[in-house]
Amino acid sequence: MTLQLETDFVEKTPLERYVAPEKPSLIGFSRAQMADALSEVGVPVAQCKMRVQQLWNWIYFRGLTEFDTMTSVSKDLRAALSERFTLARPEVVAEQVSVDGTRKWLLRLPGETQGERPHEVECVYIPDTERGTLCVSSQVGCTLTCTFCHTGTQRLVRNLTAGEIVGQVMVARDRMGDWPGGTRPAKGVVPSGERCITNIVMMGMGEPLYNFEAVRDALLIVADGEGLSISKRRITLSTSGVVPNIERAGAEIGCMLAVSLHAVRDELRNELVPLNRKYPISTLLEACRNYPGVSNAKRITFEYVMLKDVNDSIEDAKALVRMLKGIPAKINLIPFNPWPGSKYECSDWEQIEKFSQVVFDAGYASPVRTPRGRDILAACGQLKSATERLSARERVALRAMTMVE
Ligand code: SAH
Ligand code: SF4
Repeated sequence: MTLQLETDFVEKTPLERYVAPEKPSLIGFSRAQMADALSEVGVPVAQCKMRVQQLWNWIYFRGLTEFDTMTSVSKDLRAALSERFTLARPEVVAEQVSVDGTRKWLLRLPGETQGERPHEVECVYIPDTERGTLCVSSQVGCTLTCTFCHTGTQRLVRNLTAGEIVGQVMVARDRMGDWPGGTRPAKGVVPSGERCITNIVMMGMGEPLYNFEAVRDALLIVADGEGLSISKRRITLSTSGVVPNIERAGAEIGCMLAVSLHAVRDELRNELVPLNRKYPISTLLEACRNYPGVSNAKRITFEYVMLKDVNDSIEDAKALVRMLKGIPAKINLIPFNPWPGSKYECSDWEQIEKFSQVVFDAGYASPVRTPRGRDILAACGQLKSATERLSARERVALRAMTMVE
């Protein structure tokens, strides 16, 4: 087989498109798009900037769900806006709360063909005493086919829109009462600061750098200081290594970067992360070295899934720390989460400890993640020991719960 043919297998073409509803939601609109929306309903150009400021504040700072309660906006304009637009978020079809405060929401998104199976993604909130991290999806399914990842086996792929990505943050803030004057949930851990959601990780379903524009537009809205205001230092985008878009992510988004490395040799990485055939380890690490803004204060996280007898030898650990020399890096060792038909097993705990000791001795702090929120996976009828019964979505949730610091 030629290399060209092999790379053909690397990416799936999105099979479904997003079809906008007749009455679109303003969630996910940038300032420029909001100005267009305002002109559409007859607001004179000279007023648009000021009106955008007002809308922006009501929508992204205060979290309003109806135009009717926007008291600084005239009645006529409110009526005109609600005739043409909504402030709808993705529909929450299920919510589960763990005893440790971890929450997951199952969100329903429109399918391409009306009436046919809608698309679903999961969004997970993991609280701590000082911070609350939200794990956000970028696609339904994934463009790529990593052999250890259940999402990679899904046939259906659809890119989420910027609105659906920002919408996940909006939903989480709605459910947590995380808007000015909101009421916090009484149950579970809630961070002590002013905000429930302090950090965002693009580590849910999908490859964010294969949906670059929507992810960029969404994250710029999430980071906007006059709206949702989650600092770029607290937003981490995880990629399997879409090299050409890594530089763009740094330059056009400016968020933190996590790279799914998982192997120290191209031969093995070609198998685990087939995208490696297109962008091998050396080019990936080069892109990391050149990541705009990278420094000791802004390190790149390297994710490494622990697969028994595949990538978990002490030699691998030594090679890993050797190859990352000179790159300001953190290392996350992720216990593998098995699924039906997967050909891998999670490394034995002892081996994970030995591996992590090598990483620790090389100067990297506390690299293994402890699972969170496992009880809510059990609560939905799937025993936590029977992980093979978890759906693709739940696997994403479980993964998120093990990966967040
Ligand atoms: N597509 C992006 C982000 C989503 S995946 C990426 O690949 O980076 C988020 C992380 O979960 C990645 O590091 C991925 O390799 C890891 N992951 C996927 N399936 C897993 C599994 N079954 N067990 C443990 N980690 C897994
Ligand atoms: Fe996609 Fe990431 Fe899963 Fe690979 S690990 S198939 S890139 S979601």
